[in-house]
Amino acid sequence: MDIIYRFDPDVPLDRLQPESAAKAREILETGNRRFCEIVAKTQCDHHAESTLIVPCDARLLGVDPGGSAPRQEPFVALVGCADARVPPQMIFQRMSNEMFIIRVAGNVIGEEVLASVEYALEHLRDGLRLVVVLGHTGCGAVTAAVDVYLRPLRFDEIGSTRSVRSLVYKLLFPVHGAARALENLWGDEVTSRPGYRAALIEMAVCMNAAETSYQLRRESVSHGATGIGVVFGVYDLATQRVGLPSDAPGGFVGLYDAPETAEDIVPIAESIGRSEAIRALLDEG
Ligand SMILES: [Zn+2]
Repeated sequence: MDIIYRFDPDVPLDRLQPESAAKAREILETGNRRFCEIVAKTQCDHHAESTLIVPCDARLLGVDPGGSAPRQEPFVALVGCADARVPPQMIFQRMSNEMFIIRVAGNVIGEEVLASVEYALEHLRDGLRLVVVLGHTGCGAVTAAVDVYLRPLRFDEIGSTRSVRSLVYKLLFPVHGAARALENLWGDEVTSRPGYRAALIEMAVCMNAAETSYQLRRESVSHGATGIGVVFGVYDLATQRVGLPSDAPGGFVGLYDAPETAEDIVPIAESIGRSEAIRALLDEG
């Protein structure tokens, strides 16, 4: 499998500057689809020859005869988890200077993350078209929060320092929301299903991404950032696909609009909780 970032000085590449949030979203979803396809092909046959060429403008990396520094002009601001298995530029097949990326364990919103997003909204708004919140399956930070929720007496053991406890505490809100959604859908006895913990982790990952995107959407509106979309999605470590467990099997949806109101989060939770993927997890022993 070869993924090649190719700069051809004889084929000038127009700087990719999508004119709308919808176009920016389409570019990311297309990039992720191509990445999934090449990985899937390699998974079927390790010796299969598959090459993905990403045309790029090396001048943005500083390959410029004049040696001048490029101006920062991303079209996406992304808040994602620090997990080493979730590299946003590779997932979406993008390159330098296209994505303003803020990564923190559990993709939680603290003061520094919020300030970084505000910076992008204020100072990079000429080219910025989209704000993305990207969670991922099997998130360790969310797993820690789920374990604290299920065994609160072990909070000190899981959150060994004040800073770790602070991060876990932020994640307890989506965990509570996910737990309530599962109980509303499947009854109180859902907590005794064999795969309850695993299902709660994946539900909470989705709820965390959705709730964070809701917060950032409000932030975007308060900055008067018209024309900038806010979306969320979850990266599946097993399939490399960005989407939600509620996506139709075999379908490819990609990124979802951030909820406009807190009430809009409820149907998202219900849809995920009813999905085949979450039901399968609940039944796993
Ligand atoms: Zn994570």
